[in-house]
This record gives sequence, structure tokens and C-alpha cells, in this order.
Amino acid sequence: MIAKAPYRLTASGCGDILSKYTAVRDWALAHRVKNEYYGEYAANLALMSSKLVMKNAGIIATKSEEGLRIVLEALISCGVAISIAGSSRPCSGSEHLFSHALDLITPNSALHGEQCGVGAIMMAYLQKRNWKMLRKKMRRLGAPTSAEELGIKAAHIVEALALAHTIRPERYTILGSAGLTREAAEELAVETGVIR
Ligand SMILES: [Zn+2]
Repeated sequence: MIAKAPYRLTASGCGDILSKYTAVRDWALAHRVKNEYYGEYAANLALMSSKLVMKNAGIIATKSEEGLRIVLEALISCGVAISIAGSSRPCSGSEHLFSHALDLITPNSALHGEQCGVGAIMMAYLQKRNWKMLRKKMRRLGAPTSAEELGIKAAHIVEALALAHTIRPERYTILGSAGLTREAAEELAVETGVIR
């Protein structure tokens, strides 16, 4: 049955899995800044799922059963990471806050994983990491990397970025306690090619 699901759902799942790249870094940051519990085992399990999906992006993009299996195993691995950590922390950071903010501003516009994937590109930029590589992998997987591909207005992307830190204030991320100003949010989205 799953093998017959539209590929858009698979690509969206991949966006969600790739977003562990930024989620785990946010978790490590919260550990350093807020002395929050950080579990290396759970963190590595979540990271491994994103690494394997990146590595196998080409196979997944062929829509083969082999590719789908990798995606499903990665999703299970993320679920196990959450169980071990006792919270969604290893799998949900600033990129998820951005996606939740979008859900409030413009409900049912794009799929959860699609929004998280685009969020991860922008948060990776803030984390001074390889956001271009992340974007390249998402393109390879056929997941959206821009507002236009998400079907979301540029103004809503900026609004969601500026609102994200308020969604779950106890979840410390690269957005900090004060979040992004509207100007910084716009600059971030433009720099990463999410909006024009
Ligand atoms: Zn998610």
C-alpha cells in the first residue's frame, strides 16, 4: 500500500528526516546554553537517519521500493530516537517551530515535511552550516526548497520566521529567546533563495 502512495508524500517525509540535521544541532545548543539534557545516543540515531537519506537521495528519487524502504527505516529510527530521549527534541528544532508558525499563519498550505525541509535550509544557514548541501539534497529528492514551490507567499514565510521562537518558548534553538526581527527574517529567506 505504502509503495503506491504518491511520491510527494515520500519527498515530504524526506524533508522531515533531513530536518534532523538542524534539530540535533539546536538540541546541542540548548544543552550548552540552558544545560538541557542531551542524549548522545538519541542524537546520533536521529542524525544517522538524515545522513542515510542524504546518501541515498539518488535511489530514493527513482521511486523504487529500495528507496522507499530507506525512507521508512529512517522514519522509524527517528521515532526510536524520540522514545529514547523521552521528548521530540532530537527530531524537532527551529525548523519545526517555523513549520508550526506557518500552520498558524496559513493552514493547510503545504505538507509538514515540506515546510520543515525549507525551514531546515534556513536554520542551517543561521547555524553556519552547509545549507547549500541540504538544499541540493532536497532538490535531488524532489522536495520543495522555496516559497514558490511550497505554494506559500513570501510575506508569510517572513512572518513565520519572525513568529517561530514564540511557538514553544521552552524549546531553545538557534532563534534564541528574542527570535528574528522582520528585517533579519527577510534577509535570511532571501539569502537562502527561499524568497526573491
Ligand atoms: Zn516533523
